[in-house]
Amino acid sequence: MIVRDKFYIDGQWVAPVGKEVLDVVDASTEEVMGTVPAGVEEDASRAVEAASAAFESWGMTTAQERQSYLKKLHTAMASRQDELGKVMAGEVGMPLGMAKPIQAGLPLQGVANFIKILDSYCFEETIANSDIIKEPVGVVACITPWNFPLHQIMAKVCPALAAGCTVIVKPSEVAPLTAFMLAEMVEEAGFPPGVVNVITGLGPVVGEALATHPKVDMVSFTGSTRAGKRVAELAADTVKRVVVELGGKSPSLILDDADIEDAVRGTVNDCYFNSGQTCAAHTRMLVPEAEYERVAKKAVEVAQSLTLGQSGDPKAKLGPVISKVQQERVRNYIRQGIDEGAELLCGGPEQPDNLPTGFFIKPTVFGKVSQDMTIAREEIFGPVLSIIPYKDEEEAIRIANDTIYGLSSGVWSKDKDRARRVARRLRSGNVIINGGGFNMMAPFGGFKQSGNGREHGPYALDDYLECKALQM
Ligand code: NAD
Repeated sequence: MIVRDKFYIDGQWVAPVGKEVLDVVDASTEEVMGTVPAGVEEDASRAVEAASAAFESWGMTTAQERQSYLKKLHTAMASRQDELGKVMAGEVGMPLGMAKPIQAGLPLQGVANFIKILDSYCFEETIANSDIIKEPVGVVACITPWNFPLHQIMAKVCPALAAGCTVIVKPSEVAPLTAFMLAEMVEEAGFPPGVVNVITGLGPVVGEALATHPKVDMVSFTGSTRAGKRVAELAADTVKRVVVELGGKSPSLILDDADIEDAVRGTVNDCYFNSGQTCAAHTRMLVPEAEYERVAKKAVEVAQSLTLGQSGDPKAKLGPVISKVQQERVRNYIRQGIDEGAELLCGGPEQPDNLPTGFFIKPTVFGKVSQDMTIAREEIFGPVLSIIPYKDEEEAIRIANDTIYGLSSGVWSKDKDRARRVARRLRSGNVIINGGGFNMMAPFGGFKQSGNGREHGPYALDDYLECKALQM
């Protein structure tokens, strides 16, 4: 049992003003594995005041000074990889063997990347008689979701600190434990007080207090489109910069010249990664009508080969979803898919017989899905794949783009030029061609209602900087 009863504000561990606590539940066992404070508006204000005071000097540090702090943070984080992996395997439910390299490894990679970026990032340039200086935007509220808890936090904290901003981290109340570990690492790395502050609480309470606070210069938000819109509305009153990374309903477009077996295996694995709780998951598999039967058979075969199990089970390839609430949401979508006439090829809404405990969803594949069905339009955030047949390339591109979202897409073709040509027509921030790997130096973010920012790599730094022109 991990009990956290203090916030990290201004370099101190302080008692929260809010007296309520929130339970953190192990997704595999359904047992309470920890508690954290439910902060209130005064806690948020205290953290903002600390970040605002710290910005005075942190904002004036050199890139080299900030880089040296990030190096110390990297050392501290590297020494706690096992522990971080274990905590997030519990909170999120990801099998332990994957949680360590992914849930703990990606944030560490993020820190390493920004150390490298600071070697060469150009904070100043000259245009005619003007010196253009890029300066930190100021105090940043980082509001994050639960699917990759520390990765999402570090995707904001790393560029913010590298830019010279100070931060208040408000992690998801569903998976908040590693944010406190981050605070310990920040302390170990010797960051000046107030540069990084960590508080927890409910979105509508602490999140909204941050989004409205006049001394917060920027909100960097990752989460649902619903909450992102609310944050943007609240922040508008003080004209804060708002960067949002939101939901998705990403297509995987399998062209008629693709290696079908590879494409189906790649898409199913992508869709089910982290039990389908990935914003960029390829959840709509678009396939040529003539290949439908072969694709459907292969998709079921791949789905059924993924062993479901508790996060501690070494045979598990797929864990539970994160919470009872999420399990019910996903089950309702599956029921809706059946009711609206999609063909249930495998899976379904019932608890798996061999796993009576844990928030499990059987890997589910729907066939003959049409674009007007709810399961083809709304983000499900669970291991549910929809197969949508199409007539020709034009129709496939139209279906792929027929969504309010635009986070990621996939294109599969043996002809690279054709794949690139189709990729250019897809309205999304990322296009994965023939299963190309995740690159944490490339910008990640959405078109349309998937958001407006870019995380990871040098492009992410721009979101945290203001431009100042000095006319000579
Ligand atoms: P969520 O929107 O419920 O919560 C995200 C964060 O926002 C949490 O910290 C929550 O406390 C806070 N929040 C909720 N309501 C708020 C409000 N009114 N004001 C201020 N803050 C508020 O999302 P979630 O369920 O934690 O995460 C799943 C969602 O996140 C999915 O939609 C997924 O697609 C999205 N996501 C997007 C990306 C991306 O990079 N685009 C990455 C991961 C997850």
